[in-house]
Amino acid sequence: MSKQAKTAISPTREEDYPEWYQQVVRAADLAENSPVRGCMVIKPWGYSLWENIKTGLDGMFKATGHVNAYFPLFIPKSFLEKEAEHVEGFAKECAVVTHHRLEQGPDGKLIPAGELEEPLIVRPTSETIIGATYAKWVQSYRDLPVLVNQWANVVRWEMRTRMFLRTTEFLWQEGHTVHETETEAWEETRKMLDVYKQFAEEYLAIPVLTGEKTASERFPGAVSTLCIEAMMQDYKALQAGTSHFLGQNFAKASGIQFQSREGQLETAWTTSWGVSTRLIGGMIMTHADDDGMIMPPRVAPSHIVILPILRKGCDEEAVLKYAEEVAAMIRTKTYAGRAVEVIVDKRDVNAGEKGWEWVKKGIPLRVEIGPRDMEEGAVFVARRDQGPKEKTSYKREAFAEAVSGILEEIQTNLFERAKVLRDEHTQTINDYETFTRFFTPKNTEKPEAHGGFAMSHWCEDPACEEKIKNDLTVTVRCIPFDRDLNDTGKCVVCGKPAKGRVVFAKSY
Ligand SMILES: [Zn+2]
Repeated sequence: MSKQAKTAISPTREEDYPEWYQQVVRAADLAENSPVRGCMVIKPWGYSLWENIKTGLDGMFKATGHVNAYFPLFIPKSFLEKEAEHVEGFAKECAVVTHHRLEQGPDGKLIPAGELEEPLIVRPTSETIIGATYAKWVQSYRDLPVLVNQWANVVRWEMRTRMFLRTTEFLWQEGHTVHETETEAWEETRKMLDVYKQFAEEYLAIPVLTGEKTASERFPGAVSTLCIEAMMQDYKALQAGTSHFLGQNFAKASGIQFQSREGQLETAWTTSWGVSTRLIGGMIMTHADDDGMIMPPRVAPSHIVILPILRKGCDEEAVLKYAEEVAAMIRTKTYAGRAVEVIVDKRDVNAGEKGWEWVKKGIPLRVEIGPRDMEEGAVFVARRDQGPKEKTSYKREAFAEAVSGILEEIQTNLFERAKVLRDEHTQTINDYETFTRFFTPKNTEKPEAHGGFAMSHWCEDPACEEKIKNDLTVTVRCIPFDRDLNDTGKCVVCGKPAKGRVVFAKSY
């Protein structure tokens, strides 16, 4: 689409990326702000997307031996205090419940009453409460491993929020596992990161890098944090999922001990791992364009919308009947293990307007059916990964046969596009001058999309990491697993010798 052409979303990505993002969330009908500051209402189209994410991931968790359980929303304050680093990491963003009753005051207004003996924290994450439970469950090596996941909501009191990317309350899953040995716990940590990578790439069509976080970016209380990192269309990084090797830190704090095979009392090894509704923010910023959302077919709330085009004087009933027949025909097909889902939009809304609504919502395929298509036994198809005016005519049987292949093509195309963008904006940088230029926008007042992933040497001194953060708001996104340690060079900041490159970027 040329620059002059009117786009469905205003501003465009180039004009104002953060505002474009908010407008896509709204125009795609995914979510809206709520009366509670920092908390969003996830609307049916957005929630359906989350349900598909959940179903896909849950299947992968089960296939790797995990089961689901549910733990309390509230955590006693004393539990959080057990792990020093953990409490420090979360203390500043906790919602605290101090009362359990409301009483009517003299002016009729409600006043909190019944002060709790011990305040309760609305879970920011559940290591401590789950740890206390596991301490009871685990007595012997025969009780291990414990491989449990929880789907839940959590609260982190955020000052600056953005729908899906950073909200005070969000939905997520948190896996919490207990193991007999350090090796086994490490294997679990890696395995779940691989599950996240596979899910992000195969379902969400988001290419990700995998690696380890530096100490400063680690989960509070973890020995090591592994992550998947993706590049958004403004070339910033988004941490899309993390898997933590907790060592024995939380097991010690919660008293998870077991009788070993040799009959000795030993402390267990634990892991935790999570992804959240942030993934939806990541999908928007990876795939959406200046006309709105683009849903990867594997998780799309629905695959196809049929839009009957009812012209004045045409046999409306016959066209609608034909549309239903086509829908029924397509619904017998499957895509990625799921029946192809079709919506027939019969609403009495102007056809052009209706079509654009679905463009903005990002449904993978739009099928127009008018009186002439009906006469010819045909359908008129538009793909969301192509321009809004590009349409192809098919005989209806041929379309039904082709549909799952077309969906797969869209899925692959979205992934490939994202990968090309990432590769084009990943640069090997060896000196601080080039590094600084790479991460400095031309317009400092209102920064344009700039930067990307800089692959540079780092001496592993936190002081150099800190300097880059202060100078340029750039951080080490990860120390990639697959980096070449024979690639020796000089730390991009201080010039000391370093082995292998790390990924630097600005991030969400
Ligand atoms: Zn250095």
